[in-house]
Amino acid sequence: MSQMKVGIIRIGETNEDLVNRVQENLTTSLPQTTAAQIAEALPLPQQAYDEEREQYHSNTILNIIRTEAEKIKSFDAILGIVDVDIFARPLSFVFGQAENPGKAALISLWRLNPEFYGKKANMELFVERSTKEAVHEIGHTLGLQHCSNPFCVMYFSNSIFETDRKQSLFCNKCYLKIENSQATKDEDVEQPS
Ligand code: ZN
Ligand code: ZN
Repeated sequence: MSQMKVGIIRIGETNEDLVNRVQENLTTSLPQTTAAQIAEALPLPQQAYDEEREQYHSNTILNIIRTEAEKIKSFDAILGIVDVDIFARPLSFVFGQAENPGKAALISLWRLNPEFYGKKANMELFVERSTKEAVHEIGHTLGLQHCSNPFCVMYFSNSIFETDRKQSLFCNKCYLKIENSQATKDEDVEQPS
């Protein structure tokens, strides 16, 4: 399987320690992966803000990440991290969104922070949740769909309970799918064009 390079881009204000920890964790949770941060953070796009809902449209932010991914060609996937509440109709909120398959992925820290639920600050739990959602969205960029195994990172979680229940790793079935799709890509490279 070929090496995968993930670029992390911060959008707006984000907890630096948390982003660093997620970066580290991506290299262990995703097979054969390196992760690097893009130095410059992007400003939060005001056009993504929905005043009535007081939330940001995740589609609009994902489009901005896609544009960045087209500019910065050295990464296989770009993960944007925001710390604002995001939504995508018909869902009232989402933890993240990604192209499937593609290069652009997005997670929101907003509802992953234990403090959002009135709990006391817990960095370890915050990092763990953020890692799971980051791996999940990057899994989508690799072409993975949602998995019915509630412990697999590709399980769709629309509540923090489901995020906490699942692991930050792919189940065997999902792992094999990645391996196979990477193998096909490698073969493609070897084909004379
Ligand atoms: Zn998903
Ligand atoms: Zn799975």
